[in-house]
Amino acid sequence: MDMLIGGKHISSDDVEDVINPYNGEVIDTIPIAHRQTAELAIVEANNAKKELCEMSAFKISNKLFNVVDKLKEKRDEFAKSLTLEVGKPINESLVEVDRSIETLKLAAEEAKRIYGESVPLDAGLNGKGFFAFTQRLPLGVVAAITPFNYPLNLTIHKIAPAIACKNTTIIKPPTEAPLTVMKFAELLNEEFPDGVVNTVTGYGSEVGDYLVTSPDVDKISFTGSVTTGLMISQKAGMKKVTLELGGNDPMIVLNDADIDKAVKGVINGAFLNAGQVCMGVKRIIIEDSIACEFCEKLVSETEKLIMGNPLDSKTTLGTLISKKAAIQVEEVVNNAVSMGANVLTGGTRDGSFYEATVIDNVTPDMDLVLNETFGPVAPIIRVKNLDEAIEVANDTDYGLQAGVFTRDYVSAMRCVNEIEAGTVFVNKQSTFRTDNMPFGGFKNSGIGKEGIKYAVEEMTKIKLIGLNLR
Ligand code: NAP
Repeated sequence: MDMLIGGKHISSDDVEDVINPYNGEVIDTIPIAHRQTAELAIVEANNAKKELCEMSAFKISNKLFNVVDKLKEKRDEFAKSLTLEVGKPINESLVEVDRSIETLKLAAEEAKRIYGESVPLDAGLNGKGFFAFTQRLPLGVVAAITPFNYPLNLTIHKIAPAIACKNTTIIKPPTEAPLTVMKFAELLNEEFPDGVVNTVTGYGSEVGDYLVTSPDVDKISFTGSVTTGLMISQKAGMKKVTLELGGNDPMIVLNDADIDKAVKGVINGAFLNAGQVCMGVKRIIIEDSIACEFCEKLVSETEKLIMGNPLDSKTTLGTLISKKAAIQVEEVVNNAVSMGANVLTGGTRDGSFYEATVIDNVTPDMDLVLNETFGPVAPIIRVKNLDEAIEVANDTDYGLQAGVFTRDYVSAMRCVNEIEAGTVFVNKQSTFRTDNMPFGGFKNSGIGKEGIKYAVEEMTKIKLIGLNLR
């Protein structure tokens, strides 16, 4: 599939296969672009700014709603495309498309709500006699660099608010799963002037890096790993940057918790998308007195998951993005076992599949929980009490989201106040997001927030206009 730049389809002499991780078949090929092509996209995006800026908010909103309708019509086609390139179960892909539709709708609505405010300059020294107000203006060109795990919705979280507030866009999709997003860019391009949406495929280290360092790109909106995010923050210079990075989210289960609810939280939180979720449950921190009962129930529910062809609607556990990714998970689990942890169920790899795995007696010094493990693994860390639970929860460089299960509001509020994370849920696992909420982590999990309204704030600049009436 070709790139879309300035409304034209552009190829490259270099191409790369996009592989279905389930059966190893080639789904399609994409151009591997180089710096000149990234430069062309930057020129086209800059050229399109004027026409987009002159478009009314009313028109932009309507056009975004038109894309909502188009995506609704293609719901099944887009879900299948996601499953083929990511390996996620078809029902999860349908949810991703449904969320993408909602995210787009939120942006279409937000396009009509981009306000400034009046500012009382007379509250400041010598400010008497002014009438002053602010405007929120587009930054210019927003480059969206996105990961493989939710390629469609995470890209829409960037380009839809960017367009809603009149920025033109360049999408650098993940090389492993670029196709669904490229198809989506075509839908947007049918509605908006050429150059408002551009796609550049190619390696992050080359075209991604070019976008990050170009002075003619005004904002980088990045979702991906901490390693890449750190590199981007060091190279971006004066441009605005939003970084939505990895997570190592804790789930604290206290001895008064509703155990069945917490077990369900792990099933939905640790195994969704084969554990390749930034806000996935990555560490279950549980009071020792209930750990055995919890583990027994968790193992029983885990063993009900059905691993298989992701296109089969009965499948509840698909593949990882690649065999290489599955091997990494295998290694980190084996390493934890060699240090004293014990696998209660799962623990076996088959090609790019890794079984849903519950592993007990994990300690905070094991690589499995020190770093973000991107696979279907539920590590159990047993603790003595709430104090230790909070200490372990915070003993990480990450701080995306967190969940605590307890019936006691005092314990719940201690977690809410003391856990260092962008979101803390009570009686809900971290793996939960509505597309309007402010989403974004503390510590190494990132900088800035997404969730349409919040993304618009990060994609606009404020101008103050002051009228001297004296
Ligand atoms: P990644 O390796 O960091 O890649 C993300 C994107 O960055 C890809 O498009 C990649 O291109 C590009 N890239 C790579 N090197 C680059 C460079 N030097 N300059 C500019 N761009 C570059 O991440 P991933 O493995 O795809 O995704 C998994 C990670 O994303 C996990 O850590 C997960 O937690 C995180 N994530 C975070 C959120 C959130 O909202 N907080 C959501 C989802 C995922 P190539 O594909 O060509 O390498």
